[in-house]
Amino acid sequence: MTETTRYRELLEEERARLLGLKENLTESTQDAEHRSPGDPSAGGDIADAGSEFFERSRDLSIAEDVEGQLADIEHATARLANGSYGSCEACGQPIDPARLIARPATRFCLDDQREAEREVQVRTA
Ligand SMILES: [Zn+2]
Repeated sequence: MTETTRYRELLEEERARLLGLKENLTESTQDAEHRSPGDPSAGGDIADAGSEFFERSRDLSIAEDVEGQLADIEHATARLANGSYGSCEACGQPIDPARLIARPATRFCLDDQREAEREVQVRTA
């Protein structure tokens, strides 16, 4: 088995896992929409409505995260096809194979990933 084949399989597995996750999330947000919040027989009080809102917005943010990860996988698959897969998009150095196996859709080496995360923290602080 070549390295490329191995990474392609890892990306496929990850894509399948995320698509399954997305399906579950879509079902749970649709359930929430079908339930009437004003229905007194549902016994809903303000606390319930609040936690339901929380649950739903949490699902939505997970869904956004899943979308982002799926986009990364598409991106990684394209790079696999054009031969640039496995090199860091920031510094161009090869990414540690152990890191690629753990996170096949990763775009950066560990150093640049840390750097990027630090920048995000600074921006949101
Ligand atoms: Zn790098």
